[in-house]
Amino acid sequence: MTDKPDPSDRSVRHKAVSIGNRRLKPATMMMGHGYDPRLSEGALKPPIFLTSTYVFEKAADGKRFFEGITGVRPGGAEGLVYGRFNGPDQEILEDRLALWENAEEALAFSSGMSAIATTFLALVRPGDVIVHSAPLYAATETLIGRILGKLGVTWLDFPAGATQAEIEAVMAAAKAKGRVSVIYLESPANPTNALVDVEAVHAARAAVLGDGEELPPIVIDNTFLGPLWAQPLAQGADVTIYSLTKYVGGHSDLVAGGCVGSEKVLTPIRMMRNTIGTITDPHTAWMLLRSMETLELRMTRAGENAATVCAFLRDHPKVERVGYLGFLEPGSRQADIYARHCSGAGSTFSVIVKGGEAEAFRLLDHLLLVKLAVSLGGTESLASHPAAMTHLSVPPARKAELGITDNLVRVSIGVEDADDLVADFEQALLAV
Ligand SMILES: *Cc1c(COP(=O)(O)O)cnc(C)c1O
Repeated sequence: MTDKPDPSDRSVRHKAVSIGNRRLKPATMMMGHGYDPRLSEGALKPPIFLTSTYVFEKAADGKRFFEGITGVRPGGAEGLVYGRFNGPDQEILEDRLALWENAEEALAFSSGMSAIATTFLALVRPGDVIVHSAPLYAATETLIGRILGKLGVTWLDFPAGATQAEIEAVMAAAKAKGRVSVIYLESPANPTNALVDVEAVHAARAAVLGDGEELPPIVIDNTFLGPLWAQPLAQGADVTIYSLTKYVGGHSDLVAGGCVGSEKVLTPIRMMRNTIGTITDPHTAWMLLRSMETLELRMTRAGENAATVCAFLRDHPKVERVGYLGFLEPGSRQADIYARHCSGAGSTFSVIVKGGEAEAFRLLDHLLLVKLAVSLGGTESLASHPAAMTHLSVPPARKAELGITDNLVRVSIGVEDADDLVADFEQALLAV
């Protein structure tokens, strides 16, 4: 007798999600979910499986696994096959990522952009129209406008804070142009922090495009608030996309992406990933497993730190305004969306200093702890200047429309001591 499990029987992996009637929280599940030490010599932690291919026990197994991989039989891969399709580290990562939004499935990608690009390639065909919120992450705008544009796909957008009636009008115009195949959102918008009303988008889709089987999925980039402070699947989104490079990776030491949703909506995206090879590698997947063990701790601390820093900055005489989700005007439409969609204000915000580029640059050049770099969601605090950096190529009129002014500094707060961060901003503002 042996109690060694059959490695091809993946049901033996530890996937219990409750104790009695108590459903376990994602923060608890990050330590062991989806990994059975008995499959790896008793190792407490999952090894990094550096292999490009997997041995089948029987030819019939290989056939069955390939049927799942290629979609001949629904339900996905039953076994490990080849590194472009799956691997133990990636599968454990996907099982754990799905838990934060209580989703059926997740897919891991080599970057946030490869998650976004693979999703679009899986869903659009020539002549289709994409409806999206605006503004979007610059590379996503390039992908939709210039790359999918070359393939005969067009787009129509609505501003991030739009009402249901405004969204319906854009959807109706899109429907008149062609088949609407994707509704793509990004919330909050960067750097304006305007929130998209996902519930209104969901209602607008039903009102304009009906409620049939062929409805375009609502796909949302939840990088800025997810997965802790916003879970858009609960408001009617079908796919949530993450740049795992940011809060989920959380240490500014890896690049990766993810998609979360139902098995049905993720299946074509998985097939596309299998074809073009945009899956993340085993080592990065392992780093993400480690990162996710502290995800809630890190994001909670960063959120608390940001609240302290923003409270200090708001009252500072050299600061005109702080664009932070914690400071939405009570009774405003944005505050209403926030109350329905978010459980925290995040740790990424804008500081609008009094003056122009010179004053903003002086603040940036005098920060000692806070590093001058783009990106967000790491353990360390970062600051940058969108007008001169991430949004440099945006035409002046569009910049003005989006509120990307020369005196705007973008900040991502990390997990340092909050009072040390306040001291850093205090001394740097003296130089402004
Ligand atoms: C960083 C980022 C991306 C792109 O992610 P990569 O991992 O750099 O490819 C997409 N969307 C948002 C909102 C981001 O911040």
